[in-house]
Order: sequence, then structure tokens, then C-alpha cells
Amino acid sequence: MSAKTISHWIDGKLSERTPERTGDVFNPATGEVQAKVAFATPAIVDEAVESATRAAASWRSSSLAKRTKILFAFRELVDRHKGEIAKLLTLEHGKVTADAMGEVQRGLEVIEFACGIADLQKGEYSQNVSTEVDAYSIRQPLGVVAGITPFNFPAMVPMWMYPLAIACGNTFVLKPSERDPSASILCAQLLAEAGLPPGVLNVVHGDKVAVDRILEHPKIAAVSFVGSTPIAHYIYETGTKHGKRVQALGGAKNHMIVLPDADMELAADAAVSAGYGSAGERCMAISVLVCVGNAADKLVPMMKERIGKLRVGDGLDAGSEMGPLVTRAHLDKVRGYVDRGVAEGATLVADGRGLRVDGRPGGFFLGPCLFDRVTPAMEIYRDEIFGPVLSTVRVATYDDAIALVNRNPYANGVAIFTNDGGAARKFQHDVEVGMVGINVPIPVPMAYYSFGGWKASLFGDHHIYGRDGVHFYTRTKAVTSRWPDPRHRGVDLGFPQNR
Ligand code: NAD
Repeated sequence: MSAKTISHWIDGKLSERTPERTGDVFNPATGEVQAKVAFATPAIVDEAVESATRAAASWRSSSLAKRTKILFAFRELVDRHKGEIAKLLTLEHGKVTADAMGEVQRGLEVIEFACGIADLQKGEYSQNVSTEVDAYSIRQPLGVVAGITPFNFPAMVPMWMYPLAIACGNTFVLKPSERDPSASILCAQLLAEAGLPPGVLNVVHGDKVAVDRILEHPKIAAVSFVGSTPIAHYIYETGTKHGKRVQALGGAKNHMIVLPDADMELAADAAVSAGYGSAGERCMAISVLVCVGNAADKLVPMMKERIGKLRVGDGLDAGSEMGPLVTRAHLDKVRGYVDRGVAEGATLVADGRGLRVDGRPGGFFLGPCLFDRVTPAMEIYRDEIFGPVLSTVRVATYDDAIALVNRNPYANGVAIFTNDGGAARKFQHDVEVGMVGINVPIPVPMAYYSFGGWKASLFGDHHIYGRDGVHFYTRTKAVTSRWPDPRHRGVDLGFPQNR
């Protein structure tokens, strides 16, 4: 039986063209190719952009009432279909069902935020800035905007982008990850069912070929990107060179500092949950534990005990707490880091390399791995591994801990565990990282705040979603107005002054 082909969504329907190139979509739990995904040529991207351009003319003039109504209907449909969306995520990404449901829920919250566009897109008004002269500002959409998204949140990360972009009156071309493309197509179909006109949201699949056409396309005004740091940097440089507004969110190496006074049971639960949830394939996963003073002596054994009880398996099995990695290539890369950590002299306290999952011999599984006595010079500390591998670094003081975090080139998320309110307050002031958790290991901001790291974790001026998202997807027009009055007659070559 030949595998099904996942096609592009252009102009309100699935593209029926036979693709010139395709990619494999795996079921990571079995290792089997379950589908092929069409890879867009530059001509297909152009087709999507043309559709978005045609739709932009009327969509930018559509009333706030109409846009809000469609978004509300979409919100209801996503809520009703969340089990179905979550199942697609598990099948193509591998994450367990509860985690997939959580992903859809966090995406839904951004849709709910976008439903408030009538308030969010308000401008400002000043009466009588000069005699009988009024001034006001309006926020207008940019036109056609694009989103390029990573494999690890196939539903949520696109939802960080298109609901708000569309709510602001833009039309959108989404290029989701080619590794797990199906959720984006289902969501595009739900948006069409909610009443979105054809062309307002288009989905093109593919690789660098599609991305490069997006980056140079003259009719695309802005690009939102989420993915690894080297690609984020490339997207930012290339997109801005082509005159686009770009926000490019990159990779991470998130530290969790544990002070000796912390509740160690709580810290151990949090570190295991945040380190191994979604098999560590989260940009907000904790990948470094920074233990101050003697904290590691208590924490590491507690973690080892918890790790021993974790159930790793097919994400569709109700008993599984952690699923496989996304592809064999990624599994090999992550396992290679574990080998290198051992060779570099770190202590491997929990070794997941020998894990076998019953009935799933071909799955891309790696059990949780915990290193102790890691040093900042080691590769396992320096690189983003993006798998179930946690490194423990021991430091003497709080100052050493904060210096370590602030020296790291990545600055996405960070957490501190302590019962000392003063230390926590000082930490949130001192730390040079975009998102901070105090006794919260994964501090993903609410939809009505904004998400974004600092330094190598974000290129561009705007964080994603929240009010920053509205600013990114709109530009301000300032209007100065007066109604004709005989008193204004007469030529005056002087620079206008307020009187
Ligand atoms: P990736 O950078 O490999 O891919 C992201 C997107 O870029 C995909 O759509 C892919 O098709 C495209 N792409 C890949 N290589 C390209 C190239 N050479 N030229 C042009 N486009 C290219 O990332 P990934 O492996 O899909 O996702 C994991 C990464 O994303 C991790 O580094 C993770 O930290 C990061 N991430 C960051 C955030 C954040 O908010 N900062 C959120 C989720 C994931």
C-alpha cells in the first residue's frame, strides 16, 4: 500500500498537484513511514502568496465584528476537535496524549486572546492638539505575512502566529515543519469551516527551498520564525535583507538554579517533569540543573529515584509518560551527546541508552539520562541537545550560579528554586534571560503576555503573541485632521506649529 501524501492548503482547498518532491513523515513510536508530505517548489509558494495577496485586499477592510466572529467560531471548533488534533500530534511527533492535549490548550489560549482584537487594535485620539485640529493613530495590517515553524509544537507554535496575524487584518502563509505537518492542515480546514475566506490562511509544506522563496518574496511583508538558533539567525539576516519585518525565535539551554534552602522534593519533581516532559524536545525544557552549595547531594539521588519510575512508551498508550524522539537521525544525535558526555568525564547517574520498549522495536526511544558533575567546558553543557538529557553543574554560591546563566549565549527560559523571597526577587532582577520562573520550571507566559527569549534565543525586536504580537503584525499610521474653516485660509510657508 502506498503511503498517503499530505498536500498544501492554498486558496481554501487542498492542492491537487502531484508534488515534484516529497519528504517522509514517520510514526516515531514504530519507526515506520506513515505518510509522504509534498515539498513546495518556489512556484507553489508563489501560488500561495498570490492567493494571500488577492484575499488581503478585502480582508484588511473586513470589520472587526466579522473577524472576531470567525475567531470565536474557530475557537469553538478547535476546542471540539482537540482530541483529534492531539492524536495527530502524537502520531507524527511522538509526544504522549496528555502532553499533546496540553499543547492544543495553550494554542487555544492564543486564539482566545486574538478574539479580543477589537480592543487590542485600538488606536489613540487627541482632540484639539492645535486649535480645531485633532490627531489620532490607527493600527493597520502589514498585508501578506508568513510563519515558519518547528517540529516540536506542530499545533501550538503556528497558533502563536496566524490567529493574531489574521485578527489584525493580515493574510498568512504558513510553512510548518515538514516532520509533522498534518495538524496545520486540520486547523486550516477548521478555520475555513469557521468562515475564513479562501486565501486568508494558506499552508505550504517543504524545506529550505520553500523557506528561501518566502524570505525573498517581494509580496511578503513580514516573517515570524520559531526554530533552532542557526536557522533563526539565517532567517533574520535574509528576511531583513529583503526588506521584511522579522521576528526569529531560536534555540535554548534553560538552567534551573536550586539553592540549598529549596524544597528539594518539589525541586526534584519539577526538574524531572521539565527535563523529560516531551522527551526534552521543548524550547522551554530544563536542560541544566545548577546546584548551589550542597544542593546536588540531596537532589541528584531524589531525581534518580523518580527517573527510575518514568514510563517510556508509545504516546498513544495511556500509561506512557514520555514518548520517543522525533526521528532516527535526531535519536542518533542525542545518543551521541550522551556518549560524548561520558567520554568528557561527566558522571552518568541515569543511563537511558539501553531502553527497549515492548512491541516497539523500531521506535525512536531513548530513556531519560541524567549527568552529574558536568562542567561548562563540556559539549553536553554548551550545545542544545533537545532530548531527554539533563546536566547537573555544581557551583559554590548564588553569584557563581547567576554568572554561569548570564554567560550562556542562550537566554530563553530560566528558573530558580528557593524558599528565600529576597533571593528570588534579586534573581528576577539580575538574570539576563527573557522568561523567568520562580519555583516554576517552565515559565511559558500567558497568551496576554508575550513569549520570547533574549540573546541567541531571539533575533528581532518583538516577542511573539500578546501585545507584542499585535505590534509586530500591524503598523501605526498617525493622522492629523482639521475640517476646512475660513480662518485657515492664506499661504504660510513656515513649518506648521501648534497654536
Ligand atoms: P529547525 O530550525 O531545524 O526548523 C525550523 C523550521 O525551519 C522548519 O520549518 C524547517 O523546515 C525550517 N528549516 C530547517 N532548516 C532550514 C534551512 N537550512 N533553511 C531554511 N529553513 C530551514 O528547528 P526544529 O528542529 O524543527 O525545532 C527545534 C528547534 O526549535 C530547537 O532548537 C528549539 O529550541 C527551537 N524552538 C524554539 C522555540 C522558541 O520559542 N524559542 C520554540 C520551539 C522550538
